[in-house]
Amino acid sequence: MAAPLNLLDFDRQALSAWCGQLGEKPFRATQLFRWMHQRGAGDFGQMSDLAKPLREKLTGRAQVCALPALGEQASSDGTVKWLFDVGGGNAVESVFIPEDDRGTLCVSSQAGCAVGCRFCATGHQGFARNLTTGEILAQLWFAEHTLRRRFNSQERMISNVVLMGMGEPLHNYGALLPALRVRLDDHGYGRSRRRLTVSTSGVVPMIDRLAADCPVALAVSLHAPGDALRDQLVPLNRKYPLAELLAACARYLDAAPRDFITFEYCLLGGVNDAPEQAQTLVRLMQTYRAEGLRAKFNLIGFNPFPASGLVRAAPERVRAFAAILSDAGIVTTVRKTRGDDIAAACGQLAGDVQDRTRARERMARRRAAAAVAFHRKQPAAAAPA
Ligand code: SF4
Repeated sequence: MAAPLNLLDFDRQALSAWCGQLGEKPFRATQLFRWMHQRGAGDFGQMSDLAKPLREKLTGRAQVCALPALGEQASSDGTVKWLFDVGGGNAVESVFIPEDDRGTLCVSSQAGCAVGCRFCATGHQGFARNLTTGEILAQLWFAEHTLRRRFNSQERMISNVVLMGMGEPLHNYGALLPALRVRLDDHGYGRSRRRLTVSTSGVVPMIDRLAADCPVALAVSLHAPGDALRDQLVPLNRKYPLAELLAACARYLDAAPRDFITFEYCLLGGVNDAPEQAQTLVRLMQTYRAEGLRAKFNLIGFNPFPASGLVRAAPERVRAFAAILSDAGIVTTVRKTRGDDIAAACGQLAGDVQDRTRARERMARRRAAAAVAFHRKQPAAAAPA
């Protein structure tokens, strides 16, 4: 007998089609969908208004497959980080960030990441694999219903979702799209497009696809005011340089639920935090403003990790950088670091990826080539006396 299907892999339309194959009407799929996502039910026996014959058909054919939580850490500021086992020695992380007026869940889309941004702990791990739709949604499903039980609440706990955890979501578009639809579906989580953000390092063709298929709020990891530096910090820039990326951002706004794109800029001491670089950034934004691009900047403090060789920008440099953008009329916030004490802050999510594949191998090859070149340049060592 075939392995049971994971019903978290389906958006409502796909669930309806699958239930149709079992001879069930679309409203039965909607009932099932609501039990799973609105009430957190994972056991068909709990779904009391589903007809008994349907529950019997589901048993053995399907399951609601949660991700096993390997661990939970709570920060002194209320941030909670979960580590989930996704099999094959890989794990991914999700982070809940409570604030006075919202609760945000940061969700992972891949185990590891192939983009390899220099300042990002996930990027340093290399890429293992894409998550399935069910694995992306299982993070939300677990967090929402765990928090409701914990706080004995009938209210929805997670108001905002950001695809800003491990991975480049637009490199996993096929799995991402149904997950976004479930979040927006009134019979699922029923949240607005404005409260759902996809963050990308700049996969230009997929930004256009997202605009056409499911426009939600968009955040772009920028981190540099010009191509030369961005090529080094965000290697994807070599494929999709700033001119293409910013033009795609301007086009996206025609469909977006917000009238601006959020640009993330991680301030790295002595690398991208100089006042002249802020001024270059202002000029860049002014150029694209003429093409319809409206921008908001989030300046992020770097969270150092040993392999990066980078340091956090000094507070006075951060203030000066922010002031230059603000004085030029660009809405700019300096993001508060949350969950620092549990390594849950931006760029710190690392999970545990056993299958450290291409990026890791590439880095090892580069290190080996650099070492060979270095030794060739050295004068021959003097023979020992
Ligand atoms: S910042 Fe995002 S895109 Fe870049 S390596 Fe990290 S997870 Fe990947």
